[in-house]
Amino acid sequence: MTEQSKEQKSQNKVQKINGIRGMNDLLPADAYQWAHLEHVLRDLTRAYGYEFLRTPIVEATAVFQRGIGEVTDIVEKEMYSFEDRLNGEQLTLRPEGTAALVRSVIENNLLYEGPKRLWYTGPMFRHERPQRGRYRQFHQFGIEALGFAGPDIDAEIILMGQRLWDELGLKGVRLEINSLGQAHERAEHRAALVAYFENHQAQLDEDSQRRLLTNPLRILDSKNPQMQALIEGAPKLLDFLGEESLGHFNAVMNLLKANNIPCKINPRLVRGLDYYNLTVFEWVTDELGAQGTIAGGGRYDPLIERMGGKAAPACGWAMGMERVLELMKVSGSLPQAQALCDVFVLHQGGETLTAATIIAERLRSAGLDTILFCPPDGQSASFKSQMKKADASGAAFAVIIGPDELAKNEAGLKDLRDTGEQKSIPVDGVVEAVIDAMVGATE
Ligand code: ATP
Ligand code: MG
Repeated sequence: MTEQSKEQKSQNKVQKINGIRGMNDLLPADAYQWAHLEHVLRDLTRAYGYEFLRTPIVEATAVFQRGIGEVTDIVEKEMYSFEDRLNGEQLTLRPEGTAALVRSVIENNLLYEGPKRLWYTGPMFRHERPQRGRYRQFHQFGIEALGFAGPDIDAEIILMGQRLWDELGLKGVRLEINSLGQAHERAEHRAALVAYFENHQAQLDEDSQRRLLTNPLRILDSKNPQMQALIEGAPKLLDFLGEESLGHFNAVMNLLKANNIPCKINPRLVRGLDYYNLTVFEWVTDELGAQGTIAGGGRYDPLIERMGGKAAPACGWAMGMERVLELMKVSGSLPQAQALCDVFVLHQGGETLTAATIIAERLRSAGLDTILFCPPDGQSASFKSQMKKADASGAAFAVIIGPDELAKNEAGLKDLRDTGEQKSIPVDGVVEAVIDAMVGATE
């Protein structure tokens, strides 16, 4: 090639387009493990009588402004919002599942006949700085129990979580719990907190000085080691709960204890969304570095009314699927990917291809996962190179259809895993022969 034509070629080379930062492909190598997790989640929801509800990925921005709260990290800075070019509507890619689910429950009048246990799953979008365990598109699984006021349901959803971690073989997951009481109790606590920090203003760092004016509860979140002693001594919300709130909290704790669920009261646990009341909790681990919260939730009794529905209590939790899979990896509990198929069918084109497609269809009808060899060049390939593919597929058996055998109405059946033996079988008896051989192989 001349210099000129080389240059021409490189100029003509089409630029590739990459995916968006923080938004990941799910590749075939990991798909099996996701499918496993989804399977376990489906069984879990069935075990407790939860029904599936799916909402669209895009909602009116107002759903999240109202449902999550204007002064939250999500609404203030993390949402992917845009204007619909055709009609000017303000729309947002959902950053979480609860607000949209509640929107749907109200719109479809689902609580008309009484309380509902629901679950959802799917991609969520938040404009955050991508890092391990923190992505711009990530996936959540969540459950919501709507219309139940008692501590029994708080305990139930926590038991579901514990069962899930056990089922998935996760190590080192701890439950932290707190009660946020009701709005008037939080107001009293807030006043006491502000007074306390004002009395110790000299010990506040710059961040906390600012938060004292905007959101004093957030001072409790400070990671500054120099602030820890001061924070330890701060008034605790639990001490401001009245009889009713405290009764609810103690009842939840007693049900957890009776079911041997260990948990730690964390008076600093306040959760990011501002619609929570009473019980709040998180499951945390030290195994995932900074992104150590795998799931969190609690009660949000005020939300349904706030979204325009008839007042009804509610509680639930949401889990980050990527973080849970990462923790499964760290815990050594990810399942091994399975073979791609049970049977791999080889042929030499022409008449043997016709026979092979018919046999492959019969095998599939009999419930056997079957890959039919297709030559990459659309022409043909040697049995030797086909056999390599058959081996790599993980299939237990190969069915080989060559012209000489076909002329005698026969096919070859080769055991790829145990004996490596090959025998001749009648073409019309391939399905039976494979099933017999498989049963024999597992005995
Ligand atoms: P964090 O404090 O880690 O930002 P959060 O309080 O914003 O979490 P929630 O809104 O409660 O998280 O979402 C529930 C779960 O979803 C989290 O516990 C976490 O496992 C997962 N999650 C949240 N944001 C992300 C993200 N950007 N990437 C991956 N997983 C996430
Ligand atoms: Mg967050």
